[in-house]
Order: sequence, then structure tokens, then C-alpha cells
Amino acid sequence: MIQITNHLPTAELQALDAAHHMHPFTADAQLARRGVRVITSGQGVWLTDSEGNRILDGMAGLWCVNIGYGRTELAEAAARQMRELSYYNTFFMTTHVPAIALSAKLAELAPGDLNHVFFASSGSEANDTNIRLVRRYWELKGQPERRVLIARKNGYHGSTMGGGSLGGMPYIHATGGKIDGIEHIGQPHWWAEGEDMTPEEFGLLRARELEEKILELGADKVAAFIGEPVQGAGGVIVPPATYWPEIQRICDKYGVLLIVDEVITGFGRTGNWFGCQTFGLRPHIMTIAKGLSSGYQPIGGSVVCDEIANVIGGAEDDFNHGYTYSGHPVAAAVALENIRLIEENGIVEHVRDVAHPCLAEKWHALADHPMVGQTSLCGLMGSLQLTPNKERRAKFAAKPGTVGYRTRERCFANNLIMRHVYDRMIISPPLVITPEEIDALVARARKSLDEAYAEVKAEGLWKEA
Ligand SMILES: *Cc1c(COP(=O)(O)O)cnc(C)c1O
Repeated sequence: MIQITNHLPTAELQALDAAHHMHPFTADAQLARRGVRVITSGQGVWLTDSEGNRILDGMAGLWCVNIGYGRTELAEAAARQMRELSYYNTFFMTTHVPAIALSAKLAELAPGDLNHVFFASSGSEANDTNIRLVRRYWELKGQPERRVLIARKNGYHGSTMGGGSLGGMPYIHATGGKIDGIEHIGQPHWWAEGEDMTPEEFGLLRARELEEKILELGADKVAAFIGEPVQGAGGVIVPPATYWPEIQRICDKYGVLLIVDEVITGFGRTGNWFGCQTFGLRPHIMTIAKGLSSGYQPIGGSVVCDEIANVIGGAEDDFNHGYTYSGHPVAAAVALENIRLIEENGIVEHVRDVAHPCLAEKWHALADHPMVGQTSLCGLMGSLQLTPNKERRAKFAAKPGTVGYRTRERCFANNLIMRHVYDRMIISPPLVITPEEIDALVARARKSLDEAYAEVKAEGLWKEA
């Protein structure tokens, strides 16, 4: 048996990874040719790789390490819980203290009458749960025909069959199919699709596609609408101000349940505890994961309103759904400690009063860069739309993503993790980021943009579609 530690030379780690590890959302052979980056440790907003580089993590892992890396309080909470009760399930009329305490705490934090939690181990699982919850609810209400969920093109709700089907990413549907009973409407992406409309006009137009879809299917067939307050994986698309109030109005009018996917926007990301508070929404169900434990343990859940919980829980028959690790005690204990630290350290206030205003000033200043057509920022999630012509909001002639990929490569070389979604650059740093670290982030982003711009020009890629 080989002892695989951080101390093996990078090349050996890369070879073993290439030989045995299948990566998510990756073309493995292509990755093997270039050699994977091996991350060995993390502290605050900084990562270290096996070559000793110090990397500024502008993505908080996958939008999740809100509290930053290396918090020993969370390690201790996990160890304490493992010693006390490492595992027990919550099926068959049993529970344990961490699941009780976390569900009560979430009920206290969640707005309105979102007072009940069904636990999962991830955002994808929680969205699968949501499909069952809303269909079961309508069945018990005597309207079993209400089965369809409406979601958005270019939305992201996870990668299980249910989550991937709710999402509106065609390349995910093309990978193994899509379940039935899910319909998609257009996204509120004004920059790319708003044509000659103002953002406000376009926001209304896109929201009204929900009403058209409900009328087309028949309101008596529609169970729920699901959306992210700000699309994350789709490219940090902050909707026009007119969009969400109109969606809320339409859901209310037709009695369609509103599921707000807060997997990214929850736990302080937008400057409030939840994105639905930032956008004034009244969801029936909220999906949570990621920032719930700051990624220290895999945990997610559905936070459910009184009405749905009472109807499902009030039935004589079981709700036939659950996961071995629903409410896992170690994950729940870590999530509780994470929430305690967010409160004690005033992290939501830090985002609202310090980090967002500081980043906003510098982020929006990147709009003067020749390649940046639009800057967006909601709390601490931001995007830069790259374009060869700002006035026309033009796309590049090259295959979508070519210029974004090159820019990401320059970020990588400059020890900044910033992702690209086609030709849109996105960030979502740990919420604990300081003003000095924000300076470093934006300085590295600008340097990378400059280098990418030079490269794009030199290689004849500076062309409009
Ligand atoms: C990441 C994400 C998910 C899926 O969560 P996993 O934990 O990866 O399963 C669902 N919804 C949104 C909005 C996400 O960003």
C-alpha cells in the first residue's frame, strides 16, 4: 500500500490522480495532459498548492467556504461530535441533539414561516427532495395533477438527475437525460439577451414568461417555480429590479409554490442572511447547502413553510423519502458552529457594511478596461462580461468561452482563482475577506485582464461575432 501524502512530489501525485481519479465537470484525458493542480492547505482566503504557491481563492472553493479556510473551531466541533455520537439516523422515530438544534436554529434565522427543515447532504439532493415535497403536497391537497415544476434556462440546481433536470444547462441534460415534468423559461440575462430593451423592460418581459408558461400548461398542472435569487453557475447574473417582484406576483396569482434556491445566496453572501431578503421574496421552500457549513462538512436541506410541513406531516402515510445521512450529527454540529461563528464575528454585517462597499468601488472601476462590457456585483458575488465591443454588447467571433478561458488561465498564473462562464468572469470570495485582500484580488484581476487582452489581440481573437 503506497502512503499518499502531501509530501510526494507533485508529478507523482499528478500521475496517480490521472490514473485513478475521475473529476467532476472535467475532460479527464485533457486534464492529465496538462497536469492537475494539487491543493495542500488553506488559511483564511488563501490556498497553498503542492509547489508552494499562495493562491487567493476568489471563489471560496465552490462558492462555499464563506467563513474562510482553517477555522479550528469547526475542526473541534467535528471532533467533539464524533466522540459523543459519530452517527445515528433520523428515520424510524429517532433523532439526536445536533439535528434538533440545527433545525431550530435555521427556523429562527429563516424569514417568514419557514420553520421546518428536511436535511440532505448537498444542494442537489435538497432540490431532489423539493421535487418530492411539492408533488406530495399537491397530492395531499387533492390536486395530484399539479406536478410540473417551472425553472429557468441557464439556472443551476445541482447535478443529480432531479437537480440537473431543474437546472437549465443543455450540456447537463445531454449527459444522461432529463426527468419529465420540468419546464424551462428564459433567464433575466439582460446583457446577453435584452436587445434594445431597458433592463427594467426586459426584467418584466422575462418574468411574464412564467405567466405565459403557466397559462400554456394550465395553472392546475403547475406545482412550483424554482429560481436562484442571483444565478450563480450561470455567470453571476443579477436580475433587473423589475424581475423578482413580478415573479412573486405571478406565483401568488396562480397559487404556484415558490422555491428559492439559496445554495449560494444563503448565509450572508448577498449582505443579508438570505438572498430572498435582499430581493424581498416570500418563498414556500428555500434550498440551502454550501455556506450552511462553509464547506467544512457536506450538508444541505430544504427549509419549508408551515403550510407544506403541516400538510405533509399531517398525513396518515409516511413521506417516503430520506437519505442515510439526513441530518448527519457531525455535519449538523459543524453547521451549528459555523452559524455561531457567523453571528459572533458579525460576518453578515461585515459583508454589508465593509466588504461589499469596498469591493463595489474597485470592481465597478474595472469597467474602464477595454475588454470589460459590464460589471455586476450583489453582496460578494460578482461578474465581468468580456466583449470586443461595449456599445454593441457584442460577442466574440471565436467559440464562446475562448476568451474567458484565456483570461482564467492568466488568473491561474497570477495566483488568483476566478472562474469563467463562457466569456464572463465570476468571483465569490470567502465572506471574511478584508479590504487589503480585496485590493489584492482586484489588482490580480486587472493584471490578468491586461495580459489576456494582449494575448487576444496578438492572436487575432479581438473580433466581433
Ligand atoms: C451548487 C449548487 C447546487 C448544488 O449543490 P451541490 O452541493 O453541488 O449538490 C444547487 N443549487 C445552486 C444554486 C448551486 O449553486
